[in-house]
Amino acid sequence: MTNMNNITLNASIAYEKYSKLSTETRAQFLDTIANNIEALGDELLNTANKETHLPMPRLQGERGRTCFQLRMFASMLRKGDYLEASIDTAIPDKTPPKPDIRQMLHPVGPVVVFGASNFPFAYSTAGGDTASALAAGCPVIVKAHPAHLQTSTLVAAAIQKAIETNQIPEHTFQHVTDTDFSAGKALVQDDHIAAVGFTGSRIGGRALYDYASTRKNPIPVFSEMGSVNPVVLLEDALVNNSESIAKNYAGSITLGMGQFCTNPGILIGVKSAALTLFSTQLANELKTVVVAPMLHEGIQSAYFKNSNHALAQTGVTCLTDNTPTSSSAFPVLTTVDGVTFLSNTHLAEEVFGPYSILVQCEDTEQLIQVWKSIQGQISTTIMGTDKDFEKNENLLALSINIAGRILLNGVPTGVEVCDSMVHGGPYPATTDSRFTAVGVKAVRRWLRPISFQNWPNHLLPIFLQNKNEKSIWRTINGEFTKSDVNA
Ligand code: NAP
Repeated sequence: MTNMNNITLNASIAYEKYSKLSTETRAQFLDTIANNIEALGDELLNTANKETHLPMPRLQGERGRTCFQLRMFASMLRKGDYLEASIDTAIPDKTPPKPDIRQMLHPVGPVVVFGASNFPFAYSTAGGDTASALAAGCPVIVKAHPAHLQTSTLVAAAIQKAIETNQIPEHTFQHVTDTDFSAGKALVQDDHIAAVGFTGSRIGGRALYDYASTRKNPIPVFSEMGSVNPVVLLEDALVNNSESIAKNYAGSITLGMGQFCTNPGILIGVKSAALTLFSTQLANELKTVVVAPMLHEGIQSAYFKNSNHALAQTGVTCLTDNTPTSSSAFPVLTTVDGVTFLSNTHLAEEVFGPYSILVQCEDTEQLIQVWKSIQGQISTTIMGTDKDFEKNENLLALSINIAGRILLNGVPTGVEVCDSMVHGGPYPATTDSRFTAVGVKAVRRWLRPISFQNWPNHLLPIFLQNKNEKSIWRTINGEFTKSDVNA
């Protein structure tokens, strides 16, 4: 195994220098990484295609998203508002006297990132976790995902080249290609590491969280894990639109062969003629989907095992024709009644792949029980018309407790990268529901607030000095402003 002590020590030495670089230098560094990734051209796409079986259009789109994310964080750095600077000026004649206190966010230290198997670019080596941590001012050690080591190595070289071009401190980025759990465990438990980002299985994400909690100095682990993304189907929507809803959901369940953490794994409705018709329409749509290979053998065999385990549960009926084999990921739609679902917790477990279960409830009360019984989620969706929402206003309030993103009339797959996106949610969707893994606010995971009390103006960080030289938004004595402090 690689000697992790050297790697983490080097990361902590890099932190001392990298965290002090100007935001503009870090922005240029991120822009250069994006340019270098694009410059890899077809070599990168062909390598990823070979390693992950993901089709070219998907990989092209994902590469675009990765470069967009890097540039988005560069632009965030140039604006500077992410620092959440606030200033409370002194009131010497107050009793007791109020001191001058100024606060801003500061990088936490070296971060370990575990690349995701299902996003070889956007949530791997130079993906959202790495881009946001580098933007924050934290050196990054990437534990490459074993399912796409060559892709990861190419991207790591693009980052390395950007380090050289921009004269960024060496070891600001390091790439670990060991393929066993002991490497990841050693990194998470090393004293020099300040935080961890992870996307993958619940077992994996929870294991990393537990390693970190048993450290002498526990650190935050931001694990983004499985989700079944429950969808509530209301009657009037089905009466009016069941065919198009079935078409859209067949597309969403099988997008990327269901290998998304936003895959709609559980559909819930109240028994009706419209729900029965919808179930037939959805099953028919799924039967026409062309089966493609899954990301890697481990995921294929997990899909085979987990879908068969779900199919074997008492009271479960399969509505599609083919069931997955050890080498073919046939999409599966099953159905079950509400009572059976509530009495068997296995039925709420994620089956990673193109699998969904339709829970047919007796009434709205049981639907709510089923919905609430499913643990914390990344997203939840309600399909309904105005008439449905008028009749079921309480469902909107309930949805807030279930997930980090709540959709009305849409499909949960497809996660827009923007300021308002939340890709997170209550445990077990993530290990910290207060943060998002997607969008600009993902940077907040790698920053901690520091108060500077009674510091002379010239010793303060530039963002907190009286003159607002970088013209960032700050609060001064509670007012949001870009003004200088009247010294
Ligand atoms: P995984 O098994 O969770 O592994 C992801 C990474 O975490 C790998 O690098 C792995 O290390 C590391 N890891 C996992 N458990 C660990 C442990 N106990 N100690 C140290 N390191 C550990 O995920 P996967 O291989 O991508 O796919 C397996 C399953 O994860 C899928 O079937 C699916 O259920 C789920 N998944 C979910 C999502 C999502 O978005 N929520 C995405 C992808 C996969 P090694 O490199 O040493 O193997």
